[in-house]
Amino acid sequence: MSIAENIEVVKKRIAQACEKSNRDFSEVTLVAVSKGQPPESIIEASCSGIKIFGENRVQEAKSKIPICPSNLRWHMIGHLQTNKARDCVRLFEMIQSVDSLHLALEIQKCAEKESKQIPILLEVNVAGEASKFGIKPEVLIQTMTEINKLTRLEIQGLMTIAPWTPEPEKVRPVFRKLKELKLSCEDALGAPLPHLSMGMSNDFDIAIEEGATIVRIGTAIFGQRT
Ligand SMILES: *Cc1c(COP(=O)(O)O)cnc(C)c1O
Repeated sequence: MSIAENIEVVKKRIAQACEKSNRDFSEVTLVAVSKGQPPESIIEASCSGIKIFGENRVQEAKSKIPICPSNLRWHMIGHLQTNKARDCVRLFEMIQSVDSLHLALEIQKCAEKESKQIPILLEVNVAGEASKFGIKPEVLIQTMTEINKLTRLEIQGLMTIAPWTPEPEKVRPVFRKLKELKLSCEDALGAPLPHLSMGMSNDFDIAIEEGATIVRIGTAIFGQRT
């Protein structure tokens, strides 16, 4: 299957999940995860209507983004080391993977130097997996309250990576929990948070049923990464 065909299939699945949960197709933003993909594949996807691409390594993004068409938009979705924050602030329109106050402070400093406002999502380790980055649910409100004081950062919602399972139905509780956490955050902030970034190739249908506004899809669009 070509990238164009894969995108059609993914969009159909998004539409079906929206219909099943009484949501509008326009409420869900598709981010094509292009890590490990060459510019040719990214251009092919953009010709099929993909506007936003997700990358998980600053180094790779730094060499790839400048040689891709300049109308593409980029989201950082991987763990970010503080020494890469400056490049990250320059390259990406959103950082979805803010996983500590320490990192947020560094992004604030870099954004200040670049005179930029940075939309961010807080990455939450909902399932408490030792192998994953992300803020622990128990300290989320406290961490968010501190990050919310940083004037250059705009908290727009939460992001999570669900544990991998061959049966996506099993991770439904993880998505439901992230939605509950978003409600608690909104209560604490006294303001709405627009985004829930959850769902990947294996489980995005379920994530949409549970309220995802951003899905991050790699394999189902580009095929297996080499
Ligand atoms: C790689 C990656 C994805 C996409 O995963 P697929 O299973 O290929 O769809 C989504 N989110 C993050 C954070 C990733 O690192």
